[in-house]
Amino acid sequence: MYPRVILGRGRERRQHQGHPWVYDGEIASMTGQPSDGAVVDCYSHDGAFLGRGYFNSRSKIRVRILTRQVDEDVDEALLRRRLAWALERRQRLYPTATSLRLVHAEGDGLPGLTVDRYEDTLVLQCAALGMDLRRDVLAGLLRELTGLEQIYLRNDVSVRRNDGLELSHGFLDTPFPTVVPMQEHGLTFEVDLAGGHKTGFYLDQMDNHLALHTLVPTGGTVLDTFCYTGAFSVHAATAGAGAVVGMDSSTAVLEVAQQNAARNGVGERCRFEAGNVFDRLRQLQGSGQQFDLIILDPPSFTHSRDALAKALSGYKEINLRAFKLLRPGGVLVTFTCSYYVERTRFESIVQEAASDARRQLTVRQRLSQALHHSEVMAIPETAYLKGLTVEVW
Ligand code: SAH
Repeated sequence: MYPRVILGRGRERRQHQGHPWVYDGEIASMTGQPSDGAVVDCYSHDGAFLGRGYFNSRSKIRVRILTRQVDEDVDEALLRRRLAWALERRQRLYPTATSLRLVHAEGDGLPGLTVDRYEDTLVLQCAALGMDLRRDVLAGLLRELTGLEQIYLRNDVSVRRNDGLELSHGFLDTPFPTVVPMQEHGLTFEVDLAGGHKTGFYLDQMDNHLALHTLVPTGGTVLDTFCYTGAFSVHAATAGAGAVVGMDSSTAVLEVAQQNAARNGVGERCRFEAGNVFDRLRQLQGSGQQFDLIILDPPSFTHSRDALAKALSGYKEINLRAFKLLRPGGVLVTFTCSYYVERTRFESIVQEAASDARRQLTVRQRLSQALHHSEVMAIPETAYLKGLTVEVW
């Protein structure tokens, strides 16, 4: 018998929809005194079993549900089944990939746990206390199920604070090199597992890096804005682009980008320049230069609903400027990774920018985060990466 968390009257609706979180404000009463990280049962006010999961009194997310089956224990065996299924699903989706997301938290029924694989190394991130406390068990299971030994902990995501956890990163136990090569669709990229963005690479763009190969005109000119370590640039050049310009505000990532281009035999066709994309797009417009393909992959312009209007004007501005730099028949690949910018909203901003630039758009493809970053239907924010490929006339 686990301690019980009983929801207020009528507060079970989101649970019925499949949302895996119970917020503090939804709870009417409790039986027992679960310690933080312990397993609790959640019941509706009318006494219906809703789910079982990890409790945390220090978080607004009081319970993270791991199972809705009343007869399923939340124990090591459950973690093993969930991890095994996450790995099997990846094996079916990406049978040859050696660097990819293996566990996408709630999207794999393991709330708060992220595991990325970069060749022979696993990078673990625990965003929730329930997972953090079981870190060594999880690491042991992952080693057993993947056969990989090296584990790096990237517990430096700020959401950990919401769960009362500190931020840190480092080796789980035995050290190993943390700047390593990884493979993506047959190309090699260097990743910095300890200091790179996210866990080192934008794995969520993996499917879209590949999609670029169908869009690049042979010998064409490509502008890759917000290029980070050059993934889109290098894919564009190896797909046949004649000249690629990558842009980022961080000079450190651009050095890696240039090395990544050289490593894949396209160093001479890629040039990387430091600068603020907003300024550089304006300057390019003045220079009269034109491109066949432009990629806009900015960081999230807002982390709150309050700043949405400003973020939308930022998206509009870069899209507008990109339209002015594209040749007739050119292609724009444009993204937003803001949770708060819904797809329909994003597409209307892109269309508004096109009208202002007097350009006509034909939709070629709608893009999302890679399939290994599984969405949860009940949590709309988990569908955070929205992209659009348009032909521009
Ligand atoms: N397209 C990349 C990921 C881009 S992440 C990939 O597929 O790997 C966003 C990048 O934008 C980061 O590298 C960050 O340094 C850069 N950035 C953020 N604001 C910027 C700005 N105003 N101008 C230029 N680069 C910026």
